[in-house]
Amino acid sequence: MKRSIDELTTSSSSSTIPSGKPVFLTKAQREQLALQRRQEQVAAAQQQRPPLPSQSQSQSNHHPKPPRPPSPSHRGDRGHDRERDRDRERRDRAREDDSKSRDRVRAEKQAEREREKELESIKDQYLGTKKPKKRVIKPSEKFRFSFDWENTEDTSRDMNALYQNPHEARLLFGRGFRAGMDRREQKKLAAKNEKETRQEIRRKEGVEERPEEAAAQRLKEEAADMYDTFDMRVDRHWSEKKLEEMTERDWRIFREDFNISYKGSRIPRPMRSWAESRLGTELLRAVEKAGYKTPSPIQMAAIPLGLQQRDVIGIAETGSGKTAAFVLPMLTYISRLPPMSEDNEAEGPYAVVMAPTRELAQQIEDETVKFAHYLGIKVVSIVGGQSIEEQGFKLRQGCEVSDCHAGAAD
Ligand code: AMP
Repeated sequence: MKRSIDELTTSSSSSTIPSGKPVFLTKAQREQLALQRRQEQVAAAQQQRPPLPSQSQSQSNHHPKPPRPPSPSHRGDRGHDRERDRDRERRDRAREDDSKSRDRVRAEKQAEREREKELESIKDQYLGTKKPKKRVIKPSEKFRFSFDWENTEDTSRDMNALYQNPHEARLLFGRGFRAGMDRREQKKLAAKNEKETRQEIRRKEGVEERPEEAAAQRLKEEAADMYDTFDMRVDRHWSEKKLEEMTERDWRIFREDFNISYKGSRIPRPMRSWAESRLGTELLRAVEKAGYKTPSPIQMAAIPLGLQQRDVIGIAETGSGKTAAFVLPMLTYISRLPPMSEDNEAEGPYAVVMAPTRELAQQIEDETVKFAHYLGIKVVSIVGGQSIEEQGFKLRQGCEVSDCHAGAAD
């Protein structure tokens, strides 16, 4: 510290006093001197700090550097530090200002975007939006109704007049068919036309028909007849056909005629008549004796299923013959089992029919007995309101079928 003051005094005095004699400086002088030096330093620093391109270039062009300020004294250091701190503060403040202004700009942009969005939504609200609306699916549309039948099961005739009355071509030259027209009719017409044409030619030429030509013609006519027979088979009503002639379409028509519909898998064909059912001869005789000419629709549908020992839920109106529909297959099954005797009576009955009312239980008993007694099958009904002892005695004697009123156990 001492040295720096000395140096200062030396250098300052040397500028004013050429001789090397030390000069005493007052405090005010020293302060002024320091201030002056400081100003010089600041001026030099300012020149150096923002190196402008022209300046830096000029510096690189070997221009003499500005003279370095003389080494600062201790006081000059302090002032310099303060100045540096102030500079730093200024820079920090400037940086802070910069970031603040950047944040402000960002916030403004964000606000601008939000304003635009809001404007857009207001515009949409008042002018109508262009966005495709999400389709609301009604609950009724969610479930697709699936029909019990398929499109191919439509047995109605084509009502289009074009197909009902097809145009018949006169000349087919004995060959080929026209698509979409009745092949049977075409075949017949072709055979007829050919015969007439041949006869015409022969008459013109005065030639007799040769035996081989006559034979060939006969063969052709027979073939046409055969075709006719075959095709007639397709066109006949199901009631005129044998069982083996029935087509899928015929079965559909048959089911439609009797209003028979099924739900389930591997369903056997319905029976068209008692004769076509697979009931035993005794039962068939019993049915005949009962005076049942034709099976009722529920019997047509349910008896073939019952004979296969399948589980069936049959729905048909009252008095439609439901009892016989389950009783006949049941008796067929029981008839194959050993009859009830003293040895096996404890194992019986083979079948138990539960009914919701006493009257129904008795009706079922009557209907069952009608067929069962031809097969030697015993039927016992258990109903409320009748002697328990008597009913118990009948049961103990052994029976194959028991009709129970559901409340009989009370
Ligand atoms: P259900 O619906 O079983 O109570 O029968 C009603 C009535 O129809 C009963 O008297 C039966 O005897 C009679 N029945 C059942 N099936 C036939 C049938 N295929 N033909 C004539 N009558 C029948």
